[in-house]
Amino acid sequence: MTFQKTDEVKVLRDPVHADVRVEYEVIWRLINTAWMQRMRRIRQLGGAFMVYHTADHSRFSHSLGVYEIVRRMITEVPDLARALNEREKVTVMAAALLHDIGHGPYSHAFEKVVGGTHEDYTCRIIEEDTEVTRILEAAAPGLSHEVADVIRHQSENPLLPQLISAQLDADRMDYLLRDSYFTGTSYGHFDLERILRTLRVEDDLVVVKESGVYAIDYVMARYHSYWQIYYHPGARSFECILSKLFDRLRDLNEAGHMPQSIPEFKPLIEGGVLSLEDYFVLDEYSCNYAFEVLSRCGDRITADLASRILDRRLFDYMEDTEENRRNVTAALEAAGYDPAYYLASDDVGQRVYIPYRVSAGNAIRVRLHGGEIKELSEASNIVQSLVRGRQLRDDRIYYPKEIRGLL
Ligand code: ZN
Repeated sequence: MTFQKTDEVKVLRDPVHADVRVEYEVIWRLINTAWMQRMRRIRQLGGAFMVYHTADHSRFSHSLGVYEIVRRMITEVPDLARALNEREKVTVMAAALLHDIGHGPYSHAFEKVVGGTHEDYTCRIIEEDTEVTRILEAAAPGLSHEVADVIRHQSENPLLPQLISAQLDADRMDYLLRDSYFTGTSYGHFDLERILRTLRVEDDLVVVKESGVYAIDYVMARYHSYWQIYYHPGARSFECILSKLFDRLRDLNEAGHMPQSIPEFKPLIEGGVLSLEDYFVLDEYSCNYAFEVLSRCGDRITADLASRILDRRLFDYMEDTEENRRNVTAALEAAGYDPAYYLASDDVGQRVYIPYRVSAGNAIRVRLHGGEIKELSEASNIVQSLVRGRQLRDDRIYYPKEIRGLL
């Protein structure tokens, strides 16, 4: 079978890739679904826009970027262009475009509030008879499950998931470049063109040629971006306030004292897995409107937490130790703050590059000049020393700045 092409190649301008090119009708139709358009209303970086004021870019533009990198891989990397048939190429391009479609507002902060991970919702949106499902099935019966299988890492062809999520994949490549561009930082830069030129296929594995080892700046880009953008304590502080607000709403709801009805939040507050109809209306526009309403409600704590989100009155932070917790709790109580809603904590840990994690398809493999395949940390001295380094941790507690004088 063949897939219908668009009348002419559609070109979408993009500051990271210059052009995003669409030539399949099914891809164009997916971009125009309400589910994809909803991604315009969800920021790519959760709370990081509170730290980097231009980091307002959406999941929509990231999704197009991942699609474009995959499209280039399967057309410009000769081994991939040969190894995949047209159906597999369309499948992996659709999976790239849709891989984040199940994200809720404020990224990972929201995942703690809602029942289920964004991957669960992504596969449901693709397979549960939505507009997305119907477009995929109309293009080729069975396609919706094949696309979801790529996202679940269960494809019949093991090459497909490697292009979208492994260690050297289109998802990470796009977000490192895009987040770096939109935060105005240089941490995420790496040589995408060189990586694409050195990709090869060896026994169902995507590998890089030895000369591509110098694209190691990719691993370094990841390391710096994680600490400077994704794990920035300012962004985490914003996310902590968000989850405390939902803790408060849940407690009020249980006690039968909801100060203000927000119908869109009802399923969230009651808990459990959401229907796709309820999930659809949750985006950052509807949430911001709800926060504005809540900031004027009768419950003092709810109103305060909601206005902190809108007005960027972020929590302060310090290292999470027994002693610090004791001191902060005492200061909060002295100042009349309930620690249940005003003392938050989170922890992050990151290894710069973890070989052999999850599955065999999840390492960066290098083909040496002699033909031998080695895992990246064995082929690069720099990566080897990074892998051996201790795992960095950064456990913090968060509390209102107003109690500073009492600490
Ligand atoms: Zn992504």
